[in-house]
Amino acid sequence: MVAQKVRTRFAPSPTGYLHVGGLRTALYNYLFAKKMGGDFIIRIEDTDQSRKVEDAQKNLIKTLEWAGIIADESPEHGGNFGPYVQSERLDIYDKYCKLLLEDHHAYYCFATHEELDENRQLQIKQGLQPKYNRKWLPEEMGGSIPPSVIQKKLDEGEPYVIRMKVPDYISVWFEDIIRGPVEFDSATIDDQVLMKSDGFPTYHFASVIDDHLMGFTHIIRGEEWLSSMPKHLLLYEFFGWEAPKVAHLPLLLNPDRSKLSKRQGDVAVEDYVRKGYSAEAIINFVAMLGWNEGEGSEQEVYSMTQLIDKFSLERVGKAGAVFNVDKLNWLEKQYIKNRPTEKLVAVIKPILLAELEKREPLMPLEMITSETYLEKVIELMRERVGFEHEFVTFSSYFFFEPEAYDEESVKKRWATDTNDLLRDFASILGSLVEFSAENIEAHLKEFVAPKGMKAAVLIHPLRIVASGVSFGPSLYHLLEVLGKETVLRRIQVGLEKISSSV
Ligand code: GLU
Repeated sequence: MVAQKVRTRFAPSPTGYLHVGGLRTALYNYLFAKKMGGDFIIRIEDTDQSRKVEDAQKNLIKTLEWAGIIADESPEHGGNFGPYVQSERLDIYDKYCKLLLEDHHAYYCFATHEELDENRQLQIKQGLQPKYNRKWLPEEMGGSIPPSVIQKKLDEGEPYVIRMKVPDYISVWFEDIIRGPVEFDSATIDDQVLMKSDGFPTYHFASVIDDHLMGFTHIIRGEEWLSSMPKHLLLYEFFGWEAPKVAHLPLLLNPDRSKLSKRQGDVAVEDYVRKGYSAEAIINFVAMLGWNEGEGSEQEVYSMTQLIDKFSLERVGKAGAVFNVDKLNWLEKQYIKNRPTEKLVAVIKPILLAELEKREPLMPLEMITSETYLEKVIELMRERVGFEHEFVTFSSYFFFEPEAYDEESVKKRWATDTNDLLRDFASILGSLVEFSAENIEAHLKEFVAPKGMKAAVLIHPLRIVASGVSFGPSLYHLLEVLGKETVLRRIQVGLEKISSSV
């Protein structure tokens, strides 16, 4: 027998942004399909027209592509199993619904919202699980409504829904790849609405039909869909179709172990993109939300290729996965640390150019935006920034004159002789032929030693006048990159401004 090609899908509803949980679902489907040499497909589930948001579909797919998750088939790029948008498949759902009506697995229900609500309140009062009371179950399916009454209502154009009839006294069993065997008693399963009164199918109905017709071999989705499984399995059985294998992913949790919510941080992938996180770090981070390589592996940084190679559903845990943004920040730093310099230059340059439209540069524009200069700044700062854009904001003193001096540090670092020391050392710096870090360091040490002073006495004030702040990369390298002219000017300006403030 030829093994069936693996096909997985991500099936978002176009109701807004891409949730980080959605990104994880998409990623796991993608990783699993690619690992197995299969196809990953995007299907848009827009059967709830009232929740549809303009452009959501385009943005979802764009964000996935930004993250490196490229579908083999999708509404944007087509494929052999389309259409890939459910609202374009209504005739298909109609056709299959008719089959269920004919086979007595489904029936018309004319109950009004008020009736349904009353029934539900009553059941809750009686301590029962709320379920449809089957008032409209037809005679031929074991109910009390004669065919003529149903026909009359249909002829009169009364609004209706179509419900599935859940068989009595059976149990529905399946094996979840992550959770193992799961069983449901049919008494707990409601006669689910399949077709709504607006003529659209419900999620459950459309998703089963499409999952079958589009040939998916594995369904990988969030834990919240686990309780829908028995309804879906019954539908597969009614149609005589083989159900795909299923895996329900663990919940995403806030650090306090409550369900991940907007209230405790961002949940939209777009927010993280806007803040400057890179696709590599986000993918790496999201991959670890529920999956680990196991067997004593200490690896934490994975590329997409490595993830495809190592991913397996067997290594996805059942327990909720904590969304810890510190871990994401740590990963982002690892990526910046190791990213090729030319890639960083390509990202930083446009950010710098935009900033240069608003502010006067420290040196001629060509110098400040030259690759050689940017590379030097990157090498000094790559271990200190959290985001790529911080190469410009955090290291702004490499591009613009400092606008102020950190007051606390000035208070702490300035002694009565500080300005004299700076002035004297500036003339030594001015005489240096080779303005290199080593040379500056050697001269600074030679300068303080005979005075019986520690280098720190000069290092801190020098850093403050040169950068405006009290922290940063090695001072000697910072001075070398800024260059003699800028350093001397900044000492001069610093002496004027600070002497008048201390
Ligand atoms: N449209 C559903 C969602 O947005 C898909 C659930 C499924 O994967 O079956 O989560």
